[in-house]
Amino acid sequence: MDKQQPEDDGLDQTLKAIEATYEANLPPRLDDIDDALQHCLDEPANEAHHHTLLSKLHGLAGSAGTFGFARLGLQATDLEMLLSAFMKGTAPFGKDFAPIASGVRDLSRWAKVNPKGDDASREMTAAMPRNLRANDSNVAERRLIYLVHDNPMLATDIAVQLQYFGYEVEVISELARLQVCIDRRIPAAIVMDLGFPTGILAGAKEVARIKTANAHRIAVIFLSTRSNFEARLATVRAGADGYFSKPLDMVALIDRLDHLVVAEEERLYRILVIDDEIETADYYAAVLRGAGMEVRVLHKVADMLKVLGEYRPELILMDVYMPTCNGIDLARIIRQDPMYLDVPIVFLSSEGNLDNQLDAIASGADDFLTKPIKPLQLVSALTSRARRYRELRALIMRDSLTGLFNHSAIKEHLIREISNARRTATQLSLVMIDIDRFKSVNDSYGHPVGDQVIRGLSRLLQQRLRRSDIIGRYGGEEFAVIMPNTPVDAAITVLDQIRESFSNIRHQAEHQDFTVTFSAGVASLGGDTEADELFRLADVALYDAKNSGRNRIVRG
Ligand code: GH3
Ligand code: MG
Ligand code: MG
Repeated sequence: MDKQQPEDDGLDQTLKAIEATYEANLPPRLDDIDDALQHCLDEPANEAHHHTLLSKLHGLAGSAGTFGFARLGLQATDLEMLLSAFMKGTAPFGKDFAPIASGVRDLSRWAKVNPKGDDASREMTAAMPRNLRANDSNVAERRLIYLVHDNPMLATDIAVQLQYFGYEVEVISELARLQVCIDRRIPAAIVMDLGFPTGILAGAKEVARIKTANAHRIAVIFLSTRSNFEARLATVRAGADGYFSKPLDMVALIDRLDHLVVAEEERLYRILVIDDEIETADYYAAVLRGAGMEVRVLHKVADMLKVLGEYRPELILMDVYMPTCNGIDLARIIRQDPMYLDVPIVFLSSEGNLDNQLDAIASGADDFLTKPIKPLQLVSALTSRARRYRELRALIMRDSLTGLFNHSAIKEHLIREISNARRTATQLSLVMIDIDRFKSVNDSYGHPVGDQVIRGLSRLLQQRLRRSDIIGRYGGEEFAVIMPNTPVDAAITVLDQIRESFSNIRHQAEHQDFTVTFSAGVASLGGDTEADELFRLADVALYDAKNSGRNRIVRG
């Protein structure tokens, strides 16, 4: 289950391979690729040459970024995808090989981009998981759902609901077209009917076929009017990730989709590596990524607080001695902020001197690892600490019904965000949301249904707001959202779209479905407003929204 369990041979192999590549020479050699390209041009009909070129590009894409040639790595990744599409006959430019050839020739240009240059995008790129690096459209695929259904009315209905939750939905009405669409764009999940004109279990049969024919792991959820054993068995055999009988409970479906689609990337531990020596930091980053962690590398120590705030690492790995700054001082600075009192700090150093180790521990570090350390050892030391931290944080900071930050956590966040906003001279908005006439939801449909509505809104907020927005459950059916770097107008625009979506979601009660609205008040940070005052301002605005008719957003 846990991908980050270090004790498996496959992982050990991966880490060893990373270690070996790292020790091989820099910069990446492009001669090989040029040769492979020449073979393709000499014998265009020989597919073996395409395969060779593809594997060279793949190797380059994987190694270049690790060694600091981020641009080159990106370029190689794009080319790899393009060539792969070309080979399958699905490239945008059809059978024309010229764009690929010129892309490959261009690689040498990117290889000259100085890897040690002060290139801000490089740090960003290195921080992104490989599957997100190629381009923006690749990121969008993570929200793409194929809805395969032969009843257009019903399909549109479901599609609209899914879209309210931030998914991009493409409706496919013929089962036979599913494979074609997958070849074109790989979705995050397929939601499909079980029965089609070709058979009551035709959906399951096609999925079983697709699952064996495609290397990508695509989540599949079946919808069916049938809930008998035979139907369920067919979907399980087809490798389905979920089964919903109609009438469809949308909130439950979204829950399942989120779990399958979004949770996977969230499961990665976020590690911050601080080292002003670029090669060392990149090496450890590569090792940790190889073990399935998300890693951000920080070379410029001066950016530390900013990066901590944005990235919210679950563990910090840093060197004790850095030419420009002492790790022990950095640890002290981190511990000064109540938000980071308990984030694990692990020192990595060749320092064998016991006194220094004690200093490090006294500064608030949790562990002290001595270099050289075997990759697997490093991974296992960090995994257990990051896991424990995550579990503790979840207990302390989170609300159990929604998983959002609880009342005290959101207050703590607001205090910190206000000081961030002051320091960086940026705007900050605070939103208070309260579900309208919620008492009558409970009275009409029961408390558990009320809970579902609260969860539905929490989910919608999590999906629609940015990762940098901080969402909390302030009280019963009240939510608070901190939007850093956001002027009040922008906050209102975003919230109003969410309000609109929410009001269109049909919640499911036993015998009927119903809709619910919310009201919100938005306040923005003024010159010397403190957290409590900002909460009060947003609350006053919320009160106005209620008094002026509900289902609206009011500016404080
Ligand atoms: P208004 O539009 O003015 O906000 O009306 P309202 O009915 O939403 O306001 P009120 O504050 O009077 O009622 C809120 C209700 O929310 C009362 C309480 O029973 C219910 N509630 C609070 N927490 C929960 C919860 O966790 N689950 C459920 N199901 N109900 C809750
Ligand atoms: Mg209330
Ligand atoms: Mg209310």
